[in-house]
Amino acid sequence: MPDGSNKPADADRIHGHIVPLGACLAITWMSRRRAAERRMAVVEAFGAIIGRALDLALPPRCAGCGEEGRAICARCAPALDARLERAAGVPIGLPASIPHPLLQLEWCAPFSGTVRKALHELKYSGEQRLAVPLGAAIARRWREVGVGGDVVAHVPVSTERLRTRGYDQAALLARAVARELGRPAIRALERHRATVPQFELDRSKRAGNVAGAFRVRAAARDAVSGRWVVLIDDVTTTGATLAACAEALLDEGAFAVSAIAMAREA
Ligand SMILES: [Zn+2]
Repeated sequence: MPDGSNKPADADRIHGHIVPLGACLAITWMSRRRAAERRMAVVEAFGAIIGRALDLALPPRCAGCGEEGRAICARCAPALDARLERAAGVPIGLPASIPHPLLQLEWCAPFSGTVRKALHELKYSGEQRLAVPLGAAIARRWREVGVGGDVVAHVPVSTERLRTRGYDQAALLARAVARELGRPAIRALERHRATVPQFELDRSKRAGNVAGAFRVRAAARDAVSGRWVVLIDDVTTTGATLAACAEALLDEGAFAVSAIAMAREA
């Protein structure tokens, strides 16, 4: 029975090799998987940023018509100045006058067509280059109808939104406006309470949603005190968010607060 007696020994030998080999493969596989997981975590963390960097390396396409070359082409650009010639103030037909305590509430165009597409791309597609032409349009409208204003500030997005998006679109707009107007842009405000996105609420609930949600950053107190602040936002509807920001600025000693948005949703 030499064959039979050898079998277990062979099996043991083979088994003895298979087990460590299997363990080796398993360890290799697990470490590879861990490495892959780590890579995925890195990709997830930086993917959006890298994606945006790649986007910015490509030539821009017009947000209005898709033509390659500029973020807004010459044919679509007039939409940004739809209200440039209009008198200051809230025209008859729109709900509510200027919400307290804002001194002024201005906007450049209705929230539709090219302007709507451009703001959507700036906000959700990472097309940060749009902040320059949009900011320039805000500055043009402000030069026409704006009164006062020592410093430019913006309505900040939530920290969570900032983390996932990687930038604050209103801050980019404010920076572009400040450059155009030759006034300093300050990061004056922060959100200290979570809010429901305003578009999810009907008009009557919006003021309550954002009341007390903003405060002046400790580092910006001196820059705000005694200043006339021009607040910038991408879109406004009732002006409730801008008014809540104005409350926080005035509580911190701002002299006055005016506001201008790129677009207004009627
Ligand atoms: Zn175009």
